[in-house]
Amino acid sequence: MSQANTERMEFKSELRQVLQLITHSLYSHKEVFLRELISNACDAIDKVRFNSLANAHLLEGDQDWKIKLIPDKDAGTLTIVDNGIGMNRESIIDNLGTIARSGTKAFLENLKQADATQKPDLIGQFGVGFYSAFMVADSVTVMSRAAGEPASSAVRWISDGQGEFTLESVDKATRGTEITLHLKEDEREFLDAWRLRQVVKQFSDFVEHPIVMDVEHTEKVEGEDKKTIQEETLNSRKALWLRSKSDVTQDEYNAFYKQISNDFEEPLKVIHYSGEGTIEFKALLYIPKRKGFDMQFGDVKAGPRLYINRVQIMDHCEALLPAYLRFVKGVVDCPDLPLNVSREILQHNPLLDKIQKILVKTVLKALEELKTSSYDAYVPFFEDLGDVLKEGLSRDWDHKEQIANLLLFESLKHEAGTFTTLAQYVEGMPSDQTEIFYLTGEHRAALEHSPALEAFKERGWDVLLLTAPIDEFVIPDLREYKGKALKAADRNAPELKPEEQKKVEEAAGKFKPLFEALQPGLKAVKEIRLSKRLKESAACLVADEGAMSPNLERLMQKLGRTEGMEPSKRILELNPDHPVVAGLLDLFGRNAGDPRVQEYGELLYDQALLAEGSRLADPSAFIRRVNALLAKDVKG
Ligand code: ADP
Repeated sequence: MSQANTERMEFKSELRQVLQLITHSLYSHKEVFLRELISNACDAIDKVRFNSLANAHLLEGDQDWKIKLIPDKDAGTLTIVDNGIGMNRESIIDNLGTIARSGTKAFLENLKQADATQKPDLIGQFGVGFYSAFMVADSVTVMSRAAGEPASSAVRWISDGQGEFTLESVDKATRGTEITLHLKEDEREFLDAWRLRQVVKQFSDFVEHPIVMDVEHTEKVEGEDKKTIQEETLNSRKALWLRSKSDVTQDEYNAFYKQISNDFEEPLKVIHYSGEGTIEFKALLYIPKRKGFDMQFGDVKAGPRLYINRVQIMDHCEALLPAYLRFVKGVVDCPDLPLNVSREILQHNPLLDKIQKILVKTVLKALEELKTSSYDAYVPFFEDLGDVLKEGLSRDWDHKEQIANLLLFESLKHEAGTFTTLAQYVEGMPSDQTEIFYLTGEHRAALEHSPALEAFKERGWDVLLLTAPIDEFVIPDLREYKGKALKAADRNAPELKPEEQKKVEEAAGKFKPLFEALQPGLKAVKEIRLSKRLKESAACLVADEGAMSPNLERLMQKLGRTEGMEPSKRILELNPDHPVVAGLLDLFGRNAGDPRVQEYGELLYDQALLAEGSRLADPSAFIRRVNALLAKDVKG
């Protein structure tokens, strides 16, 4: 090689800025350089294979398609070799020395308009590709020979990324490109086999072509250590999502699931989706049988992995699935997305929204199928993950009905441990029932015996019994299902029949003076009235329609969120047909000043608190009153 054929050229000045920005903004993700170089090598292989369809002579020479990594500790270099399309002198100048490429040009136009604070973000909008090599290398040498051209046509490009590059003609025996990075002193980790293996696994595991490296093995041969060198393939190459469904076995699906999820069990359902039509993308998603470790112990990241043409871009792309589907694991590969390095910016790409819509619909449909055709498998899934799914009722209004269809509920008319769906509930509603009723609380047993349900039992109406803490927050957001409003059973009693209504109204007049007398002694009560809902019990407490339910208030207390919050005042409802209430009215009629009137009024209030599972403000007063009555009774 004579010096004479060496040509010194300058990068376009703008490119220098690009390089500086790349180095600056990607400082904490330097290892992406390898992903970028492997991705270029892979494209180069795809290109020569494609072009050879029309020009078979391009395939002359090596057809053992692969990308080889050669770390050289002595020289401090890492070389990436491919046998792809290669570049001749002209294309190397075009591709690696100017800003002719549209991405870079657009980038610089944006850059000129942006102020300093936006600059680091802007960089993410464009693929950085080859130039990211300068994050880890002081100098880069590219040797390349274009497919179909002679050995003597090869070129060597060298640059320190500072503003200039040199070009010289060289001989290269094989087609393709070799990129040698002279690693910076503190980037020597990229010479270690384990680090390279790790970066390849993390970012390029599913690249279609093998990524190989020579690895030294020591074997004992006749008692002596013998060193052998073996070429090892670093990537698993199994891009299952790109294959057609008929080419993938269940075992392969399961093995891939275990690799990406760290779950020991098989998945509950595999969703292999091939997006056709306006957006081209593939998705391989999994619904797990139950909560993974990540979800049990907090810190769970939502969203599947995102690939662009088999190149991994993000571990968890939150923009692809909403948080309420965070139990779904998998991969989405969309070749139409720009190869970005700024995850933040990529997450705002409108294409992702469109893909998300399709994925949400697909996942919800898959769950619906599971529920209908594999109910026994769906139940344990729902018991474990239903609470996560329910979050969607508050967050995803577009799919509220689909989510509602997936919910399972315990109910008054179904034995403990068995479930009903909203559709079944509505189907079973008698003709005089127009609304869906639910009651929230901590335990089914307490709910079943709640005085609030007496009128429902009498009418033969079912009531959903909700015991998960989240129900309290999300079920009210459902508001209605199939045109039927959802109502809390402790705030809404069934409408009375006209003759019953008349009876209550008549009795109300008689009770009014008693209630006025009791009210000042019951400070925590907003109002005392006759009940339309009680059939057996003497008393119960109800909340105003808009007020916080007692269950929610108890939950807030547990969470310590009640500071500065006034407990909401409740309404004490009394049952005029109950002998105690009727007797109290009598006693009051005989002697309005009898101290027992107040005492028994408070006892009724305490009973109502106990019946709904709330705490008594003064348990000792309650015990004293009950004991006084017991003492009288046991005396005979
Ligand atoms: P991008 O890959 O986004 O186009 P890069 O800066 O990574 O941007 O690469 C610029 C161009 O250089 C590529 O489009 C390709 O034409 C060429 N190139 C890079 N690496 C190789 C390679 N290993 N073999 C052949 N051509 C390459």
